[in-house]
Amino acid sequence: MGTMKALVYHGPVDIRLETRPIPSPAEGEVLIKVKGVSICGSDLGAYRLHEVSDRWQPPIVLGHEFSGEITGLGEGVQNFSIGEPVTANPILYCGNCYYCKHGQINLCPNRYSVGTSIGGIRHDGAMQEYMTVRSSAVIPLLDGVSFKQGALMEPLAVSFCAASMGDKGESERVAIIGAGPIGLMILKFLKASGNRQVFVSDVLPGRLNFAKSIGADEVIDGHEDVVSRVAALTEGVGADRIVIAAGVPGVLEQSLQMVRNGGNIVLVALMHQKVHLDLIPIVARQISLLGSYMFTDEIKKVMALVAKKQVLVDDLITSEHPLSEGVEVFKDLVKPDCKDIKVLLTND
Ligand SMILES: [Zn+2]
Ligand SMILES: [Zn+2]
Repeated sequence: MGTMKALVYHGPVDIRLETRPIPSPAEGEVLIKVKGVSICGSDLGAYRLHEVSDRWQPPIVLGHEFSGEITGLGEGVQNFSIGEPVTANPILYCGNCYYCKHGQINLCPNRYSVGTSIGGIRHDGAMQEYMTVRSSAVIPLLDGVSFKQGALMEPLAVSFCAASMGDKGESERVAIIGAGPIGLMILKFLKASGNRQVFVSDVLPGRLNFAKSIGADEVIDGHEDVVSRVAALTEGVGADRIVIAAGVPGVLEQSLQMVRNGGNIVLVALMHQKVHLDLIPIVARQISLLGSYMFTDEIKKVMALVAKKQVLVDDLITSEHPLSEGVEVFKDLVKPDCKDIKVLLTND
C-alpha cells in the first residue's frame, strides 16, 4: 500500500525519522492521515528519560494529541466515512471492568493508550503520516474546528478536568503552579467559567507574560517568595484552591502553605520523585489533596467550547514544523532556553 515517514522513538534522546509501510486498518479500526500532532510534555518526558521506561517500550511512535482525516475503514466500521476530519480519545479502555461500567474509563486497569506501551501493549501514536486506531476511540471534529485546534483536544480535556476538580464555586481564588501548556489551558478554562481570581507562578518570565496576556490576575515569579505573595493577595487567608501543574520538588509543601484552611490542592502534574510531607495540616486544617488524571468524555465538551469560541486556543501553538523535521524539533524543545508553549508537527 505504499510507504510513509514515521518518527520512531528508540529510547531516551534517540528519535529517528524512518520509512515504514502505510498500515492497513484491522477489523473495527480506521486509518487516519494525520494532519497535525502536538508534542506533549509526556513525549518530551520520554525523550528526556535516563533509561527506558515501561511506559514507552521502543521502538514506538509517540504522539497522542492529534487530528487528521479518515482515509481507510477496517471491516465492520460503519459510523465513519472517508475524508471525515477527526481526533481520538487516546485512552483505549476495556469497557467491561468496574471503572468502565461506572463511567471512569480513565481509571480502567486494563487500559492501554495511543503512543505509549501502557498496559504492556505498544500502540503506535500520531507522529507518522498515517496511523490506525480503533473506531470506537475516534471523535469527529465539529464544524468550525480546525485540524490545528483538533490536535489540542486531548490536553484541553486534561486541563478542563483539572480546572473543574475541587471547584470551590463563584469568586474562588485559585493559584496555578506551573505555566506550561496544561497550566495555561487550566487558566483559560478558569477565566472562561465565572468570576474567579487566578494567580499563576512559574520560573520562566516568558510563560508569565503569556499567562498575564490571557487573563491571569497576578503572575508570580517562582524565584520569589510565592507563599508570601499569595498570602498578600488573599489578606493572609490563603487561596481556595491550588492547582499543581508542574512536577517539581517542593511544590506540594509550598501548596500546603498557600492554601486556606478547608481548601483544595489539585495535583495534575505527574511527580516522579517521592515527597516527604507533614500530614498533620491535611487533617487539622482540613485540606483535600485531589489527583486529576486524564478525562473520560470531556473531549466532546471542550470541542464544543472551542467551536463556539468560548475558549480561544490557537495562541497556545507557538510554532509549527513538518513531521520530517521532528528529530530537530525534539532536540530544540529540550534546550533550557526554549520559548515555545505548544509545538505542532504537521503533515500536508
Ligand atoms: Zn498529552
Ligand atoms: Zn475497563
